[in-house]
Amino acid sequence: MNTVALNQPVEYLVRTFDLCKSFGSLAVLRNVNLEVRLGEVVVLIGPSGAGKSTLIRCLNRLETPTSGRIIFDGHDLTGAKVDLPSMRRQIGMVFQHFNLFPHMTAFQNVMEGPLTVLRQPRDVAENVAHNLLQKVGLAAKSKSYPSELSGGQQQRVAIARALALRPKLMLFDEATSALDPELVTEVLAVIRQLAEEGMTMVIVSHEMGFCQRVADRIIMMDEGTIVEDGPPSAIFSHPTQDRTQRFLKEILRQEG
Ligand code: ADP
Ligand code: MG
Repeated sequence: MNTVALNQPVEYLVRTFDLCKSFGSLAVLRNVNLEVRLGEVVVLIGPSGAGKSTLIRCLNRLETPTSGRIIFDGHDLTGAKVDLPSMRRQIGMVFQHFNLFPHMTAFQNVMEGPLTVLRQPRDVAENVAHNLLQKVGLAAKSKSYPSELSGGQQQRVAIARALALRPKLMLFDEATSALDPELVTEVLAVIRQLAEEGMTMVIVSHEMGFCQRVADRIIMMDEGTIVEDGPPSAIFSHPTQDRTQRFLKEILRQEG
């Protein structure tokens, strides 16, 4: 978690400047100015279609912004000279659907990046994979194939695989939305542990209790813009915007 000392310059890992993204005539992101400090956990909330996934996908340039700038760790991701493969290596992403390599064991899935992308020697990559599977509580499953793992276990392997490239930023887009309810907790626990270790993260999640506990900052999005931005205590207890109030009321009603 982030603690910014007073009188010190704020260090941003990510900043967007008037980021816009349109698909044809549909403006999906409209002048988004997002700031993520080093070590900060930012949670994006908002109704379906608000542009949360598009924003996250722009951050690692899975989408090309229509206009505006993205600065990541001092590099202009929107500049003509950007080395995208090198940048993407530093930004781990976990999606709703665990996209593991089906023909590889959990261990091989985690080892693949260190071996082929970072070109680490095999014994080093094996060591990394071993440690990361242990970290996500799956040391005993290292020889299992994805089809032999539960959704929650697969998602934890996906997190270990992303961490194996030693990213500076982790992006999670509804990482638990496809899971059976009883498997959600084990995945959220891993994400929470990363937060405690100081990993910088941008997370899209509908798990409001989790958001409240893990976030340094909550950002409410609607119709392609940031509607409200503040600490969880403020957003959940005293949302200032009608749209935030309505969204929270609706989602808490759904949670029962
Ligand atoms: P959220 O993640 O908040 O639900 P998205 O970023 O997925 O929102 O989508 C925002 C809007 O952009 C939606 O109206 C969606 O239909 C549209 N959209 C997203 N991706 C594409 C695409 N590749 N082509 C056209 N429209 C898209
Ligand atoms: Mg989405």
